[in-house]
Amino acid sequence: MELELETLLAARFPIYDRQYSKGTIFGDWGFECGPGWLPLFITLANKLNEMGVKPDNITVRQIKEKFWALRLYVDVPAYVDDEISALIDQLEQESSNICEACGERKPSHMRRHECDPARLSLDYQRTRFLTQLATGDGV
Ligand SMILES: [Zn+2]
Repeated sequence: MELELETLLAARFPIYDRQYSKGTIFGDWGFECGPGWLPLFITLANKLNEMGVKPDNITVRQIKEKFWALRLYVDVPAYVDDEISALIDQLEQESSNICEACGERKPSHMRRHECDPARLSLDYQRTRFLTQLATGDGV
């Protein structure tokens, strides 16, 4: 994901600020996936906010694509661990229906669909991020 988009996301949802993940893969490399999965990241952040978990009590260890699906590795306080683990399982499953690159829905059995090239531009993704971050709507 472009650093500019990561910065927009972290400004709205500080759990994705790499300063809270020093010494981890996420801290070093940030998002190892495309920007298409933004709504999934918003959903996770909203849930943690709702549960009252502060960014400095969360460590994002790694966020990456594996076998065309999202993988989220996040340490959270024990009292929310079961609920957040269940949510992460759901989000990882849901990711296979969303194109990692452009954010459109796609059949889960397809590794790639034919993305509309316009949706892959940084301009398009910046606008998409700003709109979705302003509304705060996840999936
Ligand atoms: Zn696509």
